[in-house]
Amino acid sequence: MSGITVLRLSHRIGRDERVTTHVGLTARAFGAKGIAIAGDYDPGVLESLRRVTEVWGGPFEVQYVGDWREYLRSAKSRGDLVVHLTMYGVPLPEVLEELRRALSERNMVVVVGSSKVPREVYELADLNVSIGNQPHSEVAALAVFLDRLLDGLVFRISFPDARLRVVPHPRRKVVLRRREEALAGAEKDRSPGREALNVGND
Ligand code: SAM
Repeated sequence: MSGITVLRLSHRIGRDERVTTHVGLTARAFGAKGIAIAGDYDPGVLESLRRVTEVWGGPFEVQYVGDWREYLRSAKSRGDLVVHLTMYGVPLPEVLEELRRALSERNMVVVVGSSKVPREVYELADLNVSIGNQPHSEVAALAVFLDRLLDGLVFRISFPDARLRVVPHPRRKVVLRRREEALAGAEKDRSPGREALNVGND
């Protein structure tokens, strides 16, 4: 299957650090192959997403985009499908099968906004898609979009090069780390090259 890159428009330093970071974390965790961030150049956000990828695994490409128009035009000229998430678009269930078919052959760029989205984005997009027709959030819209499109990949995804890996547990935090040495009190894990850190409940 081809890959999905999320294009985050109009990032604003001083207002959007947290939400843009959450867009990136959601993109990675739900199965996109990368994020491109347009708007203010913000090395802090880029660095924090790269750091998460280093620790929790990739591949996940994080890049800054100076000119989003040029980015979208060249994506389209390479044959990528551009999907803009907007409350004004076509409901996702109506185009889901079409999008799945397209993704089996082409890369996809999924555009999310922050402040007012320029009209040009609606025109450059191959499809404007809504996750319900009420205003909510780019993080919520992206999560639902990726979850439906990739059929719950978030529950199956794994990152082979991760330094840390969570072992699901009903009552406490259990994290495996790739390093050989165990922390005091750590319980041994059976997977080669990994040891369990019982990090507690906080
Ligand atoms: N006022 C902005 C506008 O005029 O487009 C929308 C701001 S909204 C907080 C930020 C982003 O969340 C939007 O650009 C869109 O990508 C996404 N979003 C919000 N509600 C959505 C919905 N119902 N369906 C799809 N995407 C949505």
